[in-house]
Amino acid sequence: MKIGIIGAGLSGLTAGRILARAGHDIVVFEKSRGYGGRMATRRIDSKSPASMDHGAPYLTGSADEFLVLLAELEENGLVTLWTDRFSHFTDDRILPEMPGREPGKYYAAPHGMNAIGKYLGRSLDIHFTEKVGGITHIGGSGPKKSPWMINSASINVFEADAVIIATPAIQAYGLISTAQDEFDLRKMITVLDDVSYSSVVSLMAGYGERNPVEWKAIHCDHPHISWICNETSKRDFSGDMNLVIHSTDQFAKEKIGTDDLSGTGSQLLRDASKILGPWAARPEWHQSHFWRYHIPRKSLDIPYLESENELAPIALIGDYFQGRSMEAAYMSGLRLGTDWAKKFS
Ligand SMILES: Cc1cc2nc3c(=O)[nH]c(=O)nc-3n(C[C@H](O)[C@H](O)[C@H](O)COP(=O)(O)OP(=O)(O)OC[C@H]3O[C@@H](n4cnc5c(N)ncnc54)[C@H](O)[C@@H]3O)c2cc1C
Repeated sequence: MKIGIIGAGLSGLTAGRILARAGHDIVVFEKSRGYGGRMATRRIDSKSPASMDHGAPYLTGSADEFLVLLAELEENGLVTLWTDRFSHFTDDRILPEMPGREPGKYYAAPHGMNAIGKYLGRSLDIHFTEKVGGITHIGGSGPKKSPWMINSASINVFEADAVIIATPAIQAYGLISTAQDEFDLRKMITVLDDVSYSSVVSLMAGYGERNPVEWKAIHCDHPHISWICNETSKRDFSGDMNLVIHSTDQFAKEKIGTDDLSGTGSQLLRDASKILGPWAARPEWHQSHFWRYHIPRKSLDIPYLESENELAPIALIGDYFQGRSMEAAYMSGLRLGTDWAKKFS
C-alpha cells in the first residue's frame, strides 16, 4: 500500500518505520528542512560553532515499548543517561532538586535531539521543505486507483492509498478541513476542538569559555522563565558554556506576533541574570525561536484517531493522544503502525 505521512516528527517517523518494515511504500512530507519536528537541534555558526537543542531537551518515559526505544537509541550512541534530577529556582534560590520529586531517568542526545529523528527516518523516503496544503478524497475503489491526493504547497500532487497526519492537532485540523466534503472526516475532527497547546520562546545563548556551572538544568518558578538548560552538560563544546532558556507560556503568548525575537531574547537574558547572576545577561551571541505548539494542554484518551471508511484509510497520530509528551508521540505512532501493519498485511 502506498502511504503518505504528513510530518517527520517522532510520531510520523515511528509509524513510517514500522509500516515500511511491513512492506508498505512510505512517503513522508515535511515542511521544514530536517528530521525530528519538535525534537529540534539548531547548528549555530558562531566563533565557536555549537549545536543546541532548542526544542525538547531530553527523553524520559516509563512505557515498556518506549524503554525498548531508549535502549535501542543508547546502543547506537544516540542517547546517554544524563541525570536523575533537576535543580529548582524558587524564592530567589537555586535548590539542588525539586522538593518532593522522585529521581527519574533523563536521557540526553550527545549528537543533538534531531539525530534521533535522522536515525528513525534513515530508510524512509522523506520530502523536506514540502508543506502539505491539503488533502483530497478522490474516491477510487477501482484496482489501480488511489483514494487520496496529497497536495503540497509547491503544487506537487501525490496519490496515496492511505494518509497519516502526524502534526500537532491544530495543524491536523486545518489539513483535514481541506477535505470538506467528507462527512466521516468532519465527524472525526470534532474531537480535536478540545486540544490546545502551550507556547514557548526558546532562547539559545553562548558564553564562550567560562567555568562550568554545576547544575544540569533548572525548573524555575518565575513569571517569564520556566526552564534553563546547561547544554554543556550534554555534549562537549570544548570549554564553551552554552545555555538554552525556555520562557513561560504566558510570556510567549504576550510576545506572539511582535516579530521582535532579538528584543524578546534580550529580555529573557535580563531575567536569567536575576536567577543566575549578572554574567548571564552578557552572552557572546544569542538566538531565539518561537514555538507556537509546545506541549498539549490536554490529551485525547485514545492512541490515535482513524476514519471509519476502510476504503480510504486516514489516521491522526501525535503527542496529543494518551499523554502530552514525546513518549505519547512515540506510543501513538507505534500503536497505529502496528495496527495498520496487521490490518493491511
Ligand atoms: C521547546 C520545547 C520543549 C519541550 N520539552 C519537552 C519535554 O521536556 N518533555 C517532553 O516529553 N516533551 C517536550 N516537548 C514536546 C515534544 O517535543 C513533543 O511532544 C514531540 O516531539 C511531538 O512529536 P510529534 O511527532 O507529535 O509532533 P512534531 O514533533 O511537532 O512533528 C510534526 C511535524 O509535522 C510537520 N508539519 C506540520 N504541518 C505540516 C504540513 N502542513 N506539511 C508538512 N509537514 C508539516 C512539522 O514541521 C513537524 O516536523 C517540548 C517541545 C518543545 C518545542
